Amino acid sequence: MPWKSISPIEIYKLLPRTNCQKCGEENCMAFAAKLVNMETKLDKCTPLLEEPKYKANYEKIWSIIKPAVKEVIIKRGDISLKIGGEYVMYRHDLTYINPPPIALDVDDEMSENEIINRVKFTENFSYTYTGINLKLDMIAIRSVSEDPKKFIKTVKIVMENTKLPIMLCSLKPEIIEAGLSLLKNDRPLIYAATKSNWNEMAKLSKEYKCPLAVFSPGDMDGLLTITKNLIDSGVGDLVLDPGTFVGNGLSTTINSLVAIRWKACEEENPLYGFPTMGVPMTAWFLMDGDKLKKATWEAIAAASLIVNHVSLLVMHSIEGWVLLPITLLRRNIYTDPRKPVSVKPELKVIGNPNEWSPVFVTSNFVLTYYLVSGDIENSKIDSYLLIVDTEGYAVDVATAANKFIPDKFKEVIDESGLEKKVKHRILVIPRKAAKISGDVEDAIKWRVIVGPSDSSEIPAFVKNEWPKILEEWKSENK
Ligand code: SF4
Repeated sequence: MPWKSISPIEIYKLLPRTNCQKCGEENCMAFAAKLVNMETKLDKCTPLLEEPKYKANYEKIWSIIKPAVKEVIIKRGDISLKIGGEYVMYRHDLTYINPPPIALDVDDEMSENEIINRVKFTENFSYTYTGINLKLDMIAIRSVSEDPKKFIKTVKIVMENTKLPIMLCSLKPEIIEAGLSLLKNDRPLIYAATKSNWNEMAKLSKEYKCPLAVFSPGDMDGLLTITKNLIDSGVGDLVLDPGTFVGNGLSTTINSLVAIRWKACEEENPLYGFPTMGVPMTAWFLMDGDKLKKATWEAIAAASLIVNHVSLLVMHSIEGWVLLPITLLRRNIYTDPRKPVSVKPELKVIGNPNEWSPVFVTSNFVLTYYLVSGDIENSKIDSYLLIVDTEGYAVDVATAANKFIPDKFKEVIDESGLEKKVKHRILVIPRKAAKISGDVEDAIKWRVIVGPSDSSEIPAFVKNEWPKILEEWKSENK
C-alpha cells in the first residue's frame, strides 16, 4: 500500500505483542511506530523473524512495508550499487532512499589509452563538499563495433583498470553474453532488452543472475509489454528505460519517468515497480551543433532526470562543469528531509594551538561547522573548535529551540579531554547564542564569553579582544 497510508496500529496487530524488547524498543507499539517511520528494520524483531509460528505475520508485514519500487543490486567484487528501493513519490512525504549511480561510458571503438583514461577519470573523480564525497559510480561499456571479440577486449581493459561495477551495453545477445562470460561472479547490469530481443536477454539474465534493463524509447505501452513478458518468463530484477530525449523531447522523458513512479507509488501497479534509468549522453547523438552545446544539453537532461525520479544515469562528458553540479544535485535531493545534516560533536584542533589558545564553540549543523572552521583555518588562527551536539540545528535555531544544552557542552569537553589541553577555562560562544551564556557558565563552571556573531569576525576578535580576556582570566585565577 502507499507508504503514507500505513498505520502503526496495523503493523502492531501483526507483531508478537510480547513487549520482550529484543528489538531494542520499549514495547511492540514503539517498534511499530519506528518501523513505519523507517527508523528501524523489520528483522530487528527477532521472534517474528525466527519463530515459525510468526512466519505468516512476518510475510504480511513485509508485504505492507516493502518499497513501492523494487531495490535492484548491481555488483562487482565488494562494491554493491543499490538502485530503486523507493517508497514515495514526493521526497517530503518521507525521504528518497538510493541516490542514482552515475556511469561514464566507454566503447569498443575507443583506443586502449582512451578507455583507460576514461576509466581512471571515473574512478578518481572526487570532490568533498560539506564532508560528503561526491563521486562517480560505474562504467557503461558500449558495443559500437558489434564485434564480440572487440567487446571482450574492451571489457578486459576496463576490468584490469578499475574495480567499479559495470554495465554491458548492446542490443545483440551474443555480445552481451561475451561480456558476461568475463564477469561470472558479479552482477553487471545488462542493457538492454527490447521488443525484438527480450526472450534471449531474459535467458542471459536468468543464467548469469544479472539485472536487466528494458529499453522502449518513447513507447510506454511497449515498455509495459516487454516488462510483463520478462516478469512472466521469471526475470525479477528489471530497470526501466523509457528513452532519453533532449531538446524539445526532454519533456517526454520527464513525463515518462514521472508516470512510472506515480503508477508504482500511488497506484501500486507492480509492472511499474522497478527502478528507472536515463541516458543523458544521448545529447551527443541527438543534438546538432558543437561539443559545448551537446555537453550543455547532457547536463540539462541529467539534472532534469535526477529531480524526476531517475534511478541510474549514463553520461559521456568528462567536463567538471557537467559532472560536479549533477553529483551535488543528487546529493541534495537524496538527503533525508526529516534529519538536519550534521557532523560529529567533537573537539577540532585547528593549526597548532597551545595551552592558552582560544576555544571557540559552534553547533554541529554541517553548513555552520564548515563555514566556521573554514573561516578560522583560512585565518590561520591556532585554536580549538568545540562542536556541540545541537541535533544538527544551526546556532540561532538551536538557541531558540533549546538545543544548545549545557550537558552537551560537558559531554564533548569530557570526551575530548579539553581540560588537559588548555590551562584557561574560557569558551567563546557565537553572539547568536548569547542568551545561553549564563546557563552554560553555571552548569559547567567555565567562563563563557560572547564572541562575534559572524565567524568572519573571528580574526579581529582574536587580535583585539582575546589577549585582554585571557589576561583578565589569568589575573583572577593566579
Ligand atoms: S522484539 Fe518484537 S515482540 Fe519483542 S518488543 Fe520488539 S517488536 Fe515486540
